[in-house]
Parts: sequence; structure tokens; C-alpha cells
Amino acid sequence: MLRRFRLEEPETVPEASELLARYGDSARVYAGGTELLLVMKEGLAHYERLVNIKKIPNLDTVKQDNGVISIGALATHRSLSTDALLEERLPVFAAMEKHVANIRVREVGTIGGNLCFAEPHADPGTLLLVLGAKLILAKASGRREIPIEGFFVGPYETVLEDDELLTEIRVPLLPAHSAAAYLKFGYLERPSVGVAVSLSLDGASVRDVRVAVGCAGPTPRRIEAAEEALRGKSVEDASESIGKAGAIAGRESDAITDLHGSKDYKEHIVGVLLKRAFTQVVEQCR
Ligand SMILES: Cc1cc2nc3c(=O)[nH]c(=O)nc-3n(C[C@H](O)[C@H](O)[C@H](O)COP(=O)(O)OP(=O)(O)OC[C@H]3O[C@@H](n4cnc5c(N)ncnc54)[C@H](O)[C@@H]3O)c2cc1C
Repeated sequence: MLRRFRLEEPETVPEASELLARYGDSARVYAGGTELLLVMKEGLAHYERLVNIKKIPNLDTVKQDNGVISIGALATHRSLSTDALLEERLPVFAAMEKHVANIRVREVGTIGGNLCFAEPHADPGTLLLVLGAKLILAKASGRREIPIEGFFVGPYETVLEDDELLTEIRVPLLPAHSAAAYLKFGYLERPSVGVAVSLSLDGASVRDVRVAVGCAGPTPRRIEAAEEALRGKSVEDASESIGKAGAIAGRESDAITDLHGSKDYKEHIVGVLLKRAFTQVVEQCR
């Protein structure tokens, strides 16, 4: 049962931050509420105050500026899955959003809430890692920009300070002759394993490649050793090395045994998904 709480409705980011600073551990940011209200209903946590940030204007927009797509933290999964700018300039992101959760959760759940909750079985963080995203974290006294690599600390834990909000996700557009893919596998409500790849070709060779694995372990992570097994090679040689890169990615994914499957099983699936995703991005680049 949901216990009584007070709803604060700030209209600016500094106001929201001040409320969070004033009430400390007894307050939490409330966006779509799909995670927060569940946790409170289950009695896993109780907050006396919820700071509803949905009345703060312009936090849900998607814009392009100087080769960077800026996604407001309050944009819902549903709106992102059908956003015209994303469909045109970053289709891999819109495609990933179409398969987050179910229609009810997509309708109200926000990208910011997804990242800030840091539930390990989630999709966007993994893809954002290979896209080189940066996050804007803001509070009353100012804002900072951090690479997404530095955001997740552990399950349900990020570097966000108590009075800080995630306001924006900045994603650079892919350069020419580049593509990215995100594939996932799962049979429960949330994904069991997610793999993202981005690839840039220089003629017939791999100029740059990024590999990230999510859901398998405590946080989504870049797997640089797998990237090194592919970078600088001809596409043919890289395609032949993809099995080796997949084994490395599985090993380095920090997979744990849980309800979604054993560590060995997840490591195997990482290799399978990496091979498929790599084949897809090679085709798209060409
Ligand atoms: C049944 C179900 C299935 C799901 N399946 C998937 C799936 O397949 N893939 C996937 O990726 N996710 C999945 N999810 C997770 C879903 O994407 C998230 O629940 C949703 O995005 C959270 O957003 P919200 O706005 O509802 O967050 P809220 O519940 O409002 O907030 C979540 C947490 O983040 C904090 N917070 C929210 N916004 C901010 C902000 N801007 N700044 C600072 N802190 C903030 C809140 O204080 C809270 O601690 C699933 C969830 C459910 C319930």
C-alpha cells in the first residue's frame, strides 16, 4: 500500500534542487513514477516528499544543435520511439526505445528516470555508451557535463548528488560511414542481456569500433578489450575475429548468475548478440 506523501511541484531546476537539498533523504525526484511508486507501494522505501519535476518546462524536448542531439530527461520512452528527429538522425535510438518495457511503461516512463534509477536490466545506458553520450547534471549552484561512462556506480547507484537532477542527454551524431546497433535478448519482463556496437569504416577497414554490454552484470559497460580485437583490421579480418571479440566481451561483461540465467549462459549470449550486431552495422555502413 502507498503511504501518504507530500507532492512538491517546482517550476525550475534550481527550485527542485533546493527542495532536494532542504529535505535530504526524505525526498526524491518524481518523474514518470514507474519505478519510484512501485518501490514505495512494495514498502521497499518511503519518502515523505516527492519532488514532481514534470512541471518544469522544456525538459522533455529533442533538439539538434551543432552535430549533437540533445534529449531532455523528461522525454518519455513513447515520445522518443516516434520522435521525427531521432527517426531521421539517430534511428538506432528510436528503434531501441520502441522495445523498452511495455506500452503502459513507455507512455509515462522517462529516459531520465531510466538512467537515474540504474536498474541493471535496462536498455538505454548500453546503447548510449557506444554513442559516446554525455549527461548534463544540474543543481541550484550550477551544472556539470559528464560522459555516460562515469555515471553508473553500481546497481541502483549513480554519481548523482542528492540535490542534483539529470536534465539532458547529449548524443553526438554518428560520423559518415558509421552505424550503430543495439540487440537484446530476454524472456522475463526486462532484458536479460543487451549488446550495443558502433562502427566507423575507413574504406574497407575498421577505423573505430565501440562495444558495450548491459543487463548481464551490475552496470552497463564498454568492453575495450573486445574493441581492440577489431579496431584497425579490414572488415573481413574483423568479421573473422568477431567470435574472439565476443568471447572477450562475455568474459569482461561482469556477468552474474540471477533469475535471468547463469553467468556462463549470459556470457554465451553476449557473443551471439555481438556477432549479429556487428554483421548489421557492417551492412549499414556499406
Ligand atoms: C514492468 C516494467 C518493465 C520494464 N521493462 C524495461 C525494459 O525492457 N527496458 C528498460 O530499459 N527499462 C524497462 N523498465 C524500466 C523503465 O524504463 C523505467 O521504469 C522508466 O524509464 C523510469 O522512468 P520514470 O520517469 O518512471 O522514473 P521514476 O520512477 O519517476 O524515477 C526513477 C528514479 O529516478 C529518479 N529520477 C527520475 N528522473 C530523474 C531526473 N531527471 N534526475 C534525477 N533523478 C531522477 C527518481 O528519484 C527515482 O529514484 C521497465 C519497468 C517496468 C515497471
